[in-house]
Amino acid sequence: METLRARIPLLRERMRECTLCPRECRVDRLGGRTGFCGLGAGAVLARALPHFGEEPPISGTAGAGALFLASCNLRCPFCQNYRISRERMGETVDREALAGRMLELALRGCHNIELVTPTPQLPAVLESFLAACEWGLNLPLVYNCGGYEKADVIGLLDGIVDVWLPDFKYGSEGDAVACAAPADYPQRALEAIGEMIRQTGERLRTAGGIARRGVIIRHLVLPGRVRNSLETVRLIAERLSRKVPLSLMSQYTPVPAVAGDPLLGRRVTREEYEAVVDGALELGFENLFIQEVDERNLAPDFDREEPFRWDPGPGSGRG
Ligand code: SF4
Repeated sequence: METLRARIPLLRERMRECTLCPRECRVDRLGGRTGFCGLGAGAVLARALPHFGEEPPISGTAGAGALFLASCNLRCPFCQNYRISRERMGETVDREALAGRMLELALRGCHNIELVTPTPQLPAVLESFLAACEWGLNLPLVYNCGGYEKADVIGLLDGIVDVWLPDFKYGSEGDAVACAAPADYPQRALEAIGEMIRQTGERLRTAGGIARRGVIIRHLVLPGRVRNSLETVRLIAERLSRKVPLSLMSQYTPVPAVAGDPLLGRRVTREEYEAVVDGALELGFENLFIQEVDERNLAPDFDREEPFRWDPGPGSGRG
């Protein structure tokens, strides 16, 4: 808890000329300015709920204690959480209120506290986590992020985050730019995820089947972009690790914003997904999480009380 207490002011100070993420907007968020993410200095929470659709060591049987936080430092046009990430759906919550939501998730039996896209509001979220810990919370902290992170900010979370759950979306600058991400996405992801692996090691440590410490790298296979996926898994294998658990996701579902797009407007085919799984196996990955290619609409609806109502159980889909 002392590490957490000591790091929060360092992270908060970064908001004065904001460099919390690689966008480096350098606006004074403590003085009321906003940058690319559009967030002020406080926390904005969209939903807090037990989530059964993550990888089995994250969701377990009782669910991940997911806190879906508003906004994102990427604006992927195909984001299934677009109501939260792009439209910034959510309500401003103070330190005690957010801490209370964490404790509620613990009381509901969740296996962890899973922060979904926390980086732009990290200081406020960690202040609430600290308060919850002071009130007795004792669960692993899971950091679910888009992979566009600064390695030095990730370094400040050493000893605080137990399980890292980053995306590695694009293996080449061209694919990143084609999907509206910054050209330096692959390099930033390599540096940040490298730091995560340095902190917690290549192997996922579990107790009773539930993740306690480690990294799971996620990659969402996009329609028509098998080459991007193969390049991404090659980068992970050659520059990061073949031992680190790799979660290959087939759940891509077009959202309204890309419904008419010639590539992004359709689901991933079984052939595309299997080509990526085969590529990862050939590269020697030892721990793969794979999914069925499902014909159903798997996009969550955050306007519903249960956004993942289609979800039949652990490991069936991820958000
Ligand atoms: S956290 Fe927001 S304001 Fe800060 S650098 Fe990133 S996008 Fe810009």
